[in-house]
Amino acid sequence: MRTTVGVIGGGPAGLLLARLLHRAGIDCVVLESRTREYVEQRQRAGMLEQGTVDALREAGAADRLDAEGLVHHGIELRFAGERHRIDFPSLTGGRSVTIYAQTEIVKDLIALQLDQGPPLLFGAEALAVEKPDSERPVVRFRHEGRERTLTCDWVVGCDGSHGVARDAFPTATSRTYAHDYPYSWLGILADVPPSCEELVYARGERGFALHSMRSPAVSRLYLQVPNGTDPGDWPDERIWDELAARFAIDADWTLARGPITATSVTPMRSHVHEPMRHGRLLLAGDAAHIVPPTGAKGLNLAVSDVRVLARALTELHRTGSAQLLDRYSELCLARVWQATRFSYDMTRMLHAQPNGDVFDDRMQLARLRRITASRHAAAELAANYSGLPLTL
Ligand SMILES: Cc1cc2nc3c(=O)[nH]c(=O)nc-3n(C[C@H](O)[C@H](O)[C@H](O)COP(=O)(O)OP(=O)(O)OC[C@H]3O[C@@H](n4cnc5c(N)ncnc54)[C@H](O)[C@@H]3O)c2cc1C
Repeated sequence: MRTTVGVIGGGPAGLLLARLLHRAGIDCVVLESRTREYVEQRQRAGMLEQGTVDALREAGAADRLDAEGLVHHGIELRFAGERHRIDFPSLTGGRSVTIYAQTEIVKDLIALQLDQGPPLLFGAEALAVEKPDSERPVVRFRHEGRERTLTCDWVVGCDGSHGVARDAFPTATSRTYAHDYPYSWLGILADVPPSCEELVYARGERGFALHSMRSPAVSRLYLQVPNGTDPGDWPDERIWDELAARFAIDADWTLARGPITATSVTPMRSHVHEPMRHGRLLLAGDAAHIVPPTGAKGLNLAVSDVRVLARALTELHRTGSAQLLDRYSELCLARVWQATRFSYDMTRMLHAQPNGDVFDDRMQLARLRRITASRHAAAELAANYSGLPLTL
């Protein structure tokens, strides 16, 4: 097989990139190792920055998002028996965020791609990227029991944190910066209307909890748990009791319970791979960077990488100029490190330290009190949460 851009991975990054390239008249092929059903059901993100919504609109993939997405104008911080709302529009000059599940974005993009787009092969597992620094890099992959090759002008690794594209970067000139946090998130999806209108971030001695949602009928909630937690140790009743205890605030507020339809445990980690380009191989999304979900940045970063990359490849295709492409890694990494810092700060501010460090506890409270007392500090949180503008 031969194509202009070979895309490894059919998650949000790979699918959106393929869609934007297709609309720019650039041919590409997407290789996805899993089945369509698996990819469409994988529960993950749900909070979209304005820039992510704009990118999906630009891709002609936002009909359902515009009809069903829930626009949120703020979040609530709960700590020390108090609740404080951070109002995004008044603090950021009008910005807000949208709740729309990643599963739905993936379904929308797959439907468009299979209907009108370039080839998307499910069950096609990339094994290696070869000759990334030559004019014709090659992706070796397995599909329907046969080993095949895809020869490309450019290869983009959108294959997530466990993909193979990153392995083709020479160790001498690339590096991963990593930080692992001493806790994980136990996440549930429940068929019950959310007990709040906006996301609630609760910090307390029992640990952190987040109340989020996927739709008016489906709630998404998370509990801080120790690393290595077995979800089997958490029957539904125990999860609801612990959530209720961590969100408890006053007599007026109760947590509605309902059937839990999915449970997972996710370790909190930050990883950044530098650079994001080697020769004609580029990385986008989780293949290049992972952030803990506290700042809700992972999906949004994947989309901003893809916006830069689609623009750069289109510029090259239309004008022959590789100027933007040559700055791809530098442009994306500047944003990635800001999101990594914000996610780190949010995570450190809201999670109970496993060893019960009292000094750390006071530092967290001081940070939270600063945010709720100072418009300037609240504006800084709101600007980062709702998404820093993408400047090219
Ligand atoms: C519990 C949780 C909550 C989250 N909440 C948020 C949130 O609120 N907001 C937010 O912005 N982000 C959030 N994220 C992060 C977000 O889900 C990811 O950042 C996002 O999925 C990244 O998209 P991606 O396309 O880069 O990678 P992925 O979604 O990981 O897609 C990679 C694709 O590549 C495929 N693949 C892998 N290896 C190969 C191979 N060798 N060959 C072919 N295909 C391959 C995989 O099957 C997959 O489909 C959350 C993540 C988790 C785990």
